Amino acid sequence: MAAADDDQAAAPRPDTGLIHHPYRPPAGFDSPAPGVYKASTVIFPNVAALRSRNWKNKTGYTYGLHGTPTTFVLEERLATLEGGRYVQLAPSGLAAIAMVNAALLKQGDEVLLPDNVYGPNLEFARSQLAAWGITHKLYDPLDAGSLERAIGRDTRLVWLEAAGSVTLEFPDLLGLMRVIRRHPQVVAALDNTWGAGLAFKPFDLPGGLGVDLSLHALTKYPSGGGDVLMGSVTAVDEALHLKIQLAHMRLGFGVGANDVELVLRGLPSLALRYAAHDRATRALAAWWQQRPEAVQVLHPALPGSPGHEHWAALCTSAAGLLSIVFDARWTPAQVDAFVDALKLFKIGYSWGGPMSLAVPYEIRKMRSLPWPHAGTLVRLCVGLEAVEDLIADCEQALAAMAAGAS
Ligand SMILES: *Cc1c(COP(=O)(O)O)cnc(C)c1O
Repeated sequence: MAAADDDQAAAPRPDTGLIHHPYRPPAGFDSPAPGVYKASTVIFPNVAALRSRNWKNKTGYTYGLHGTPTTFVLEERLATLEGGRYVQLAPSGLAAIAMVNAALLKQGDEVLLPDNVYGPNLEFARSQLAAWGITHKLYDPLDAGSLERAIGRDTRLVWLEAAGSVTLEFPDLLGLMRVIRRHPQVVAALDNTWGAGLAFKPFDLPGGLGVDLSLHALTKYPSGGGDVLMGSVTAVDEALHLKIQLAHMRLGFGVGANDVELVLRGLPSLALRYAAHDRATRALAAWWQQRPEAVQVLHPALPGSPGHEHWAALCTSAAGLLSIVFDARWTPAQVDAFVDALKLFKIGYSWGGPMSLAVPYEIRKMRSLPWPHAGTLVRLCVGLEAVEDLIADCEQALAAMAAGAS
């Protein structure tokens, strides 16, 4: 009888046995790809370990929301990319913006935004922050004096963006930071999606004028696939990072391990892709500058593009975005026809993926400051196609627009 009992012990019921299986693969496996660890529950060896849990300093694991080996690896790599020290992931770039606002602002506070700010950041201030009793003001990113005039007693946070993601003005980052540093109660948060941590080093600006927080839509270049949404916030100061971490914890902004894996796969080719997007975009911009349909080509590396001198002071590279301001003799409907006629450039938001994209904008409806152009603007996001093909695509679409107009 004793032997039969032993058999029972060796062969547990399948439902229990499949969950509590004793097999552990040998330790020491290594490959170029970090493992994809998925968890809501994290298992503790004993109650004492559960009670002494600490998710804040990456010395252990507590719950999937607060980090897994997979998210920790991505956070540490992103910190390296930018010369920051601490990184917190968020489920999208916009969630990262919301996380910074929630971490640093309370009722009665004021936040300042550049007039060309990423649209949903302004929408968040107008709706959600206003509902929480937090006010906002806009400043001119090319005029440090306008920021000086806007900063008040209640200002706690200034958003910076370099370059603006539709009109591509590169701000007077050093001038703006000089103003911010005169107001010790103000945190400087840069939306650094355009620079991707490559075009310039935001924590290491000349004159010790580095920003406090650098935010990325990892959705764009770090992923590079156009197939995942994620954001991050990088800090150098530990106390500031802790505020971001606490906001992340309270908001429940966890990210999925499979999504993190996609971004981890993108990172090794980030610098190569950024350089390729940059090269092709400059070639396309040079072609557009010869076209009579364009009254202005907006790209920070072009002399005459707003903020060019500020870009030149800090950067040698640029992202794969350019915007074309059409001559006002082309009506918005005709410019729409140009965009519709594009074949390789697809119509869609976002950027940073392999596929080129186009979106028309009516800037005058988006701005509080006067916008000098009457014509429609088309933002082109340059993907990784052969640039000769992209130029030919623009040429045939301009011909289609002209044929439709005559
Ligand atoms: C795309 C983008 C974001 C938001 O990123 P999502 O992941 O799409 O939410 C924020 N800032 C800038 C400049 C962006 O281009």
